[in-house]
Amino acid sequence: MAAEVRPRLTVLSGPSGVGKSTVVAHMRKVHPEVWLSVSATTRKPRPGERHGVQYFFVGDEEFDKLVANGELLEWAEFAGNRYGTPRRAVQERLEAGEPVLLEIDLQGARQVRESMPDSQLVFLAPPSWDELVRRLTGRGTEAPDVIERRLAAAKVELAAEPEFDTTLVNTSVEDVARELLALMEVV
Ligand code: 5GP
Repeated sequence: MAAEVRPRLTVLSGPSGVGKSTVVAHMRKVHPEVWLSVSATTRKPRPGERHGVQYFFVGDEEFDKLVANGELLEWAEFAGNRYGTPRRAVQERLEAGEPVLLEIDLQGARQVRESMPDSQLVFLAPPSWDELVRRLTGRGTEAPDVIERRLAAAKVELAAEPEFDTTLVNTSVEDVARELLALMEVV
């Protein structure tokens, strides 16, 4: 009997500031058909971010409800805000046979590994620590104390690389996006 072919869930994770969302944005420009889960977050929108596009921006109470109703596939607190993946949309896409990509933090990646063991975990690493500091500081959208928290989180996150199936080093956005698409078997 032929083995059942099931689309895989791909999780892209890595330290804050490493360029996950830039890679994903580039990937979607080249392959707009690739579906990316939109997370819910209690973080306030950055300039230019829109509800339902980058995130579903929700209040604390609404997030509590999503958690209590089991509507999140995973969720985590990161640098003082909560982030979570809406479960239903992911399930629907996988059932429809489409590849699914989640761009989430390390704690979330671990939860997905537990609940969906056949998912593939991809770690996006910075070319160097100095480069990561430069990117996080240079973003210019975060207050100094927020940057400090994100750098502290990044140190812990970098140490988790061996838990992942694959590591991609973010030296070139185009190359990483191409490698990610290949891992997702889109190209
Ligand atoms: P940012 O505030 O910079 O958009 O995101 C902060 C961190 O939260 C990033 O590492 C991002 O990947 C992660 N993140 C975004 N959405 C989710 C989610 O749904 N679940 C988890 N666990 N992390 C997320």
